[in-house]
Amino acid sequence: MILGIDIGGTTSKLGLVHHGQVIARARIATEGHADDRAFTDALAQAAHELIRSKDLPPLQAVGIGAPNANQLTGIIEMAPNLPWKYDVPLARMMADRLGVPAVLGNDANAAALGEWRYGAGQGFRDLLVVTLGTGVGSGFIVNGQLVLGSAGNAGELGHVIMDVNGRACTCGRRGCLEAYVSIRGMRQTYAELSAVHGRSGHPIGHRRAPHRGSSTIR
Ligand SMILES: [Zn+2]
Repeated sequence: MILGIDIGGTTSKLGLVHHGQVIARARIATEGHADDRAFTDALAQAAHELIRSKDLPPLQAVGIGAPNANQLTGIIEMAPNLPWKYDVPLARMMADRLGVPAVLGNDANAAALGEWRYGAGQGFRDLLVVTLGTGVGSGFIVNGQLVLGSAGNAGELGHVIMDVNGRACTCGRRGCLEAYVSIRGMRQTYAELSAVHGRSGHPIGHRRAPHRGSSTIR
């Protein structure tokens, strides 16, 4: 049995996974903890409660996906969208608290691995997964292997520069893909077009999309 954890800017989600099936879930707030240690304590406590809630075989390992996470080091590196603006060695901190091996990875890479092993990418040796939300993430599987690069941060499509004189990005540069096609970017496009053509309708995200999973933006 494996514990999967997704660290988000607002909420962190836990799932107990057995043969690729999520059999129990929990969530805690990412914000509002005194520091990274207090957050990790709360996360470990939620994990213990989740494990105790079910009569299951013992926990074997923990897999964590987080923004700005480096799989080679097990460290969340100064994530701009998380409360801690410094390096957090979360893999080691969770392994210490739960007494099992823990692996940390970039959240888009974790999504790519999940789709590859259990989702839409099953059976393929080459695969690209793009995650669209507050930011833009991507994970590449090439020749049957997740691509990490020498420093652990390969394949970041969100910060590929589309326009060198373009919009400011949260990474400090200009014109990144993320500055246009993320939720933040689409809202900015809406605001810019509204300023030119006059306002109508509602900004994206201020009402529910008509169909979950719909690729059409009205
Ligand atoms: Zn950028």
